[in-house]
Amino acid sequence: MKKIFLLLFALFATAYTQEISFSGEAKPASTIIAKGENITSAYLNKQRLLIDEDGIFVFGFDKDAKGIFTLRVNQSNQPEKVFTFVLEQMEYEKQSLTIPSKYVSPPKRYLKQIKSETAKMINARTKMQGVNTAYFKEGFTLPVDSVRITAVFGGQRILNGIKKKEHNGIDFGGKEGTPVYAITDGIVRLAEENFYFNGTFVLLDHGQGLSSVYLHLSKLYVKNNQLVKKGELIGEIGSTGRSTGPHLHLGVQWHNKRIDPAGLLNIKGTSKN
Ligand SMILES: [Zn+2]
Repeated sequence: MKKIFLLLFALFATAYTQEISFSGEAKPASTIIAKGENITSAYLNKQRLLIDEDGIFVFGFDKDAKGIFTLRVNQSNQPEKVFTFVLEQMEYEKQSLTIPSKYVSPPKRYLKQIKSETAKMINARTKMQGVNTAYFKEGFTLPVDSVRITAVFGGQRILNGIKKKEHNGIDFGGKEGTPVYAITDGIVRLAEENFYFNGTFVLLDHGQGLSSVYLHLSKLYVKNNQLVKKGELIGEIGSTGRSTGPHLHLGVQWHNKRIDPAGLLNIKGTSKN
């Protein structure tokens, strides 16, 4: 009798396929949020992914990612599931800007300050490693009430004629004092004033390597280690740091990969294809 029971149980377990659901697009600078039951492990190529206790996990592709990516998901009592994503290289627009020269090549006297600010950022990002909780599971909301995009994601930047890094976020135009909201739940990992490049800013940890930054603020309403909710007021638009006028720079990363916030916020794609 016991044998029959075990056999029936085994049959049931194989017949009952535990689906994995996905939301998001497989393209460069994009994230995909997945959900499934009884997940024991998941890998994107060789990278082990963090899994929430509700079976939610996120993974993303760098802005210059191309080629084949393989996702392997293991669930208890299930054969391994393998998903393949084929990415085409993305083209981004060029952006030429004229800004005060001290922000293109910082004067020597600021180098020490910039170095210590960079160290603070690295330290804050280190604290995000290994956070399994998917704080982002409630979804995403816009960081401002009315959307006016003044610079899209990904463009090669030519600052005063000198080739610089690509624009790793979206700029939202707005008057100084315009409220800025958290795009989803998260922990404040760094809320600082007047950094050389970032100005006054907030760095939020949404779990599993997903993070967002809100730069050039005039006011801060949050403190380090505070848990904020999706849509919560975290600051006000300003023009602090490397900025030519009041705007919000919103950046999103999955670990060290730069993500176009447009995909998460469901606003018009900001790249060429
Ligand atoms: Zn920007």
